[in-house]
Order: sequence, then structure tokens, then C-alpha cells
Amino acid sequence: MKPLKIAIQKSGRLNEKSVELLKNCGLSFENYKSSLISPVSNFPLEILFLRDDDIPEYVQDGIADLGIVGENVIMETEVDVSYLQRLGFGKCTLKIALPNGSEIEELKQLEGKSIATSYPVILDKFLRENKISADIRTISGSVEISPGLGLSDAIFDIVSTGGTLKSNGLKPFADVISSEAVLIGRKGEENHEHVQDLIQRIQSVLRAKE
Ligand code: ATP
Ligand code: ZN
Repeated sequence: MKPLKIAIQKSGRLNEKSVELLKNCGLSFENYKSSLISPVSNFPLEILFLRDDDIPEYVQDGIADLGIVGENVIMETEVDVSYLQRLGFGKCTLKIALPNGSEIEELKQLEGKSIATSYPVILDKFLRENKISADIRTISGSVEISPGLGLSDAIFDIVSTGGTLKSNGLKPFADVISSEAVLIGRKGEENHEHVQDLIQRIQSVLRAKE
């Protein structure tokens, strides 16, 4: 039988915890930084190491059967996949933040303002839900420097400790979503024998940590 494929982040904040989780499930594989695919020697599974942004689409399109990725990335890419298990790591909150000294005090004052972000889809949904029309400026990185450069009135970004906001003269204003790493699967494959086996192993690793 063809092995399943699970996509995990190649390097970055989720890589280490994803590898650790799979190893704790009893899976034996080499964690070569240079290779894209690592076969698991004691389970019908191959591990694909990818950029996190690509993981939801790879799973939706069936290039991978499973994936480990932040909920924020899944929401932003708007893919149709199954949520199989929350994993308890990679926790963060996506917030709107304002420059210290901003005159904005309530949400509706964002009307007509510009907000810089790398998460335009999630922000747009939030603004619509709150009936606010603002100018979303999509930039791919260093969002937090945008107000200081006069490029936006506010930002929408991932915040974990708030240190980055502070050092850029920003303050948290509104929490939009919270996120953690989740196991996702291709729609319709949830009951596959080996998918179920893996979910069960993951659940017992998570239970042992409680
Ligand atoms: P890649 O090279 O794979 O595209 P990246 O730079 O987009 O990586 P990372 O910074 O490694 O992504 O973050 C991966 C995920 O970790 C985020 O999408 C988010 O779900 C989670 N995360 C948790 N805390 C933080 C944080 N403080 N900053 C950014 N991401 C965080
Ligand atoms: Zn990324």
C-alpha cells in the first residue's frame, strides 16, 4: 500500500515541535534539513518538509494527505480541509495594533483608516463582520514598521508576547483570532486506517502531557 504523506514546516516556529510530536508518536525518521521528503521506517508514512504557507493547499489538493500548520495560515488560505486535532503548540493571537498616541479609541473609528497586514483575508472578514470599511494594505513582512513610516494608521499581525509591538511604538488594540498548530487532513480521508492510527497516537501523546 502507498504510504501516506504528512506535510510539516521545514524550518521556523512549528518545525521543532512538529518533529518532536511525530517522534513521540513512535515514528522513526531522519530529520535531514536538506531533504524535502523523509520516509518513516516503521509506519507507512512519508514526511514532507515545506513552507508553512504551502501546507493547506498541498493537503487540499491531495499532494499531502495530512499536514501540521497554524490555524491562522489555514484561515488565510481559505482551503477546504478537515480539522483533525488541535495540537497545543504554536499558540498566538492575531491583533490589530495602533501607534502609541493614536486617537483611535473604539473599533468603529477604524472606518476609513489604513491597516497594514500580511493577513488580508482574515482582516477583511473581521472588518466586514464589524461593518467597518478600511483600507487594507497587504505587505509580506515587517508589518510593524509600517505606521512609523507613515504607510498605515494601524497594523494587523501575529502577537505573542507584545515585545515587537512595544519596540516599534505600538500598542495592542483589538484581538481578532487566536491560533494554534492543528493537524489537518484531506477531505474524505478521515477514516483511512492509517490516518486513524496516527490521530490516536497523537491523542495519547497529548494526553500524556496533560
Ligand atoms: P515559512 O518559512 O515556513 O513560511 P514563516 O516565517 O511564515 O515560515 P513562522 O514565523 O515560522 O512562519 O511561524 C509559523 C507559525 O507559528 C505561524 O503561522 C503561527 O501560526 C505560529 N506562531 C506562534 N507564535 C508566533 C509568533 N510570535 N510570531 C509568528 N508566528 C507565530
Ligand atoms: Zn510562512
